[in-house]
Amino acid sequence: MFSYRHAFHAGNHADVLKHTVLIAALERLLEKDAPLTVIDTHAGAGLYRLDGDYAGTSGEAAQGVLRLLSPDADAAPSAPARKPPVPDEPAPALARYLELVRSFNRAGQARVYPGSPFIAQHLLREQDKLKLYELHPTDARTLDANVAQLEAGRQVAVLREDGFGSATKFLPPPSRRALVLTDPSYELKTDYARTAAFVAEALKRFATGVYAVWYPIIPRPEAHELPRRLKTLANKAGKPWLHATLTVKSSKIASTPDGQGKRPGLPASGMFLINPPFTLADQLRPALAQMAAWLAQDRHAGFTLEHGG
Ligand code: SAM
Repeated sequence: MFSYRHAFHAGNHADVLKHTVLIAALERLLEKDAPLTVIDTHAGAGLYRLDGDYAGTSGEAAQGVLRLLSPDADAAPSAPARKPPVPDEPAPALARYLELVRSFNRAGQARVYPGSPFIAQHLLREQDKLKLYELHPTDARTLDANVAQLEAGRQVAVLREDGFGSATKFLPPPSRRALVLTDPSYELKTDYARTAAFVAEALKRFATGVYAVWYPIIPRPEAHELPRRLKTLANKAGKPWLHATLTVKSSKIASTPDGQGKRPGLPASGMFLINPPFTLADQLRPALAQMAAWLAQDRHAGFTLEHGG
């Protein structure tokens, strides 16, 4: 049914962006005592090996989180040493992300990478709830097994259902505080339109929820259209929004001697939030600048950060 497996991509530059933003947003929301419900509509397997076959084959983590962890971290021997174009220490939002990834590993090692379900669960308190949707049979089984080890009881629910189809049934939660992460693989072209339709429906049911959407920035009209549609939805609902993007390299197809050309892999991605916590933009700006500098693969690297509403 699906061929996408997040294990190939775990810890890549897109995860660095997505998970840094997720942590910063969750930490602001958790400053209030009232219970928070987190819904992850596309959860993945929850935990990934950085020293396993998947990550080793793709090498994506080596160009992502492994560049940012201490150079002596023992994970993938092929991880390129970080060039230090920025002399400072990580900005607080990036430092929190790295600290959280380190907390899943022994000192000096970087073998395990926490996906969004484990990042959220790590931060949540007893009174909070986590709903995880995963449709891929293998990843759903792995997610179930990983979650079982947490012994988190009724705090965490794994649903082997379509995250687009039924996640809105939890909105609004009784405490009227929720963050919904929508992070599809966009393996199907229809995922772009389904994401926009899902957010529209969710906003209708619960206008004050925090909605976070990750999307790839690739040469495809639907990918460019999605943030525009989300911005329109937020503006029509009169809600604030935040849009952060990270580019690590050019999206141009490189020429090869056989004339076939070489696709560059994912060059950039974005996170679009509706109802972001108040101080998020200020926290993210220095972290994004460092990500762009430290994860750059060519001179096209950079970031954008816009907010409005
Ligand atoms: N959010 C995860 C993280 O940050 O660690 C990564 C998720 S990965 C990008 C997308 C996941 O969505 C894949 O594991 C895929 O099997 C799953 N998926 C695809 N379509 C789905 C659907 N309609 N409902 C729920 N899960 C789906």
